[in-house]
Amino acid sequence: MNDAVDLHLHSTCSDGVLAPAALVELLAASGVRLFALTDHDTVAGQAEAAHAAQASGLRCITGTELSASWLGRTIHVVGLGFDPAAATITAAVGLRHEQRRERARAIALRLDRAGAPGSAALERLAGVDVPTRTHFARALAELGAARDATQAFDRWLGHGKPGHVPSQWPALEATVAAIVDSGGTAVLAHPLRYRLSSGQRRTLVRAFAEAGGGALEVVTGGVAPHQIETALGLALRAGLAGSVGSDCHDPALPWHRPGRLAKLPEAVVPVWNRWAAAPTRALQA
Ligand code: AMP
Ligand code: MN
Ligand code: MN
Ligand code: MN
Repeated sequence: MNDAVDLHLHSTCSDGVLAPAALVELLAASGVRLFALTDHDTVAGQAEAAHAAQASGLRCITGTELSASWLGRTIHVVGLGFDPAAATITAAVGLRHEQRRERARAIALRLDRAGAPGSAALERLAGVDVPTRTHFARALAELGAARDATQAFDRWLGHGKPGHVPSQWPALEATVAAIVDSGGTAVLAHPLRYRLSSGQRRTLVRAFAEAGGGALEVVTGGVAPHQIETALGLALRAGLAGSVGSDCHDPALPWHRPGRLAKLPEAVVPVWNRWAAAPTRALQA
């Protein structure tokens, strides 16, 4: 049996394929009881998710996944349980929207120079609030520059590829502070997915905890049991709580399906314990 908890999910408000309400329906059908919608650099879907949750009898806490920089790498910090109207979170999200729009133009330019239909892809992103590389990948596939979105990353958008633009997101420490100052808990997302040595990874987790980070995603979509053990060790060593999240963007991809996650190991304190006593506050989101 899993924890019936999923604290890392995407909707059409960023680069997921389901609208928040449709995602909540899927969660309910998958046996998830407590969730957070954590779209990249936005809180746009929070009200819809909270309303749908109320209608389905699920518990919803506020969420977002903020892009941050540390040692020149992009690090993802999930924020949970914050006030979505707080000035600090609004500013953090607004800043990243600007950066994303600017980066989208830079990506299009680089793709054009490399012979891919960058400007045409950018035109398709015109109505997108939070343009991500996933949007570019889908547009490039539609325009015939790749077989599918995965191949678009391999050929054009991945690290070191012609359309890759190194991102200068706000620092990890400032990102954690924005979440904490908004009344939330910062969670280090998918800690094993960054291109870091194990020593650097331990340093990252320590820096995250020292900056006020509260939890580490011990169970994330697609991880093997030995990776859960590694992540558990990182959390315990830094005194962090543990979180569980599928990082589902598309329920058609089996390894990221919500409701199919491994249970959080008992050695670590579940991050959701802190909302167990106050479910109504989260539901007001
Ligand atoms: P961005 O934040 O705009 O750099 O986009 C990052 C998003 O792209 C991630 O959250 C993933 O959803 C997606 N992504 C990154 N790398 C890949 C990949 N190799 N294949 C498919 N999707 C990817
Ligand atoms: Mn994504
Ligand atoms: Mn992420
Ligand atoms: Mn994610």
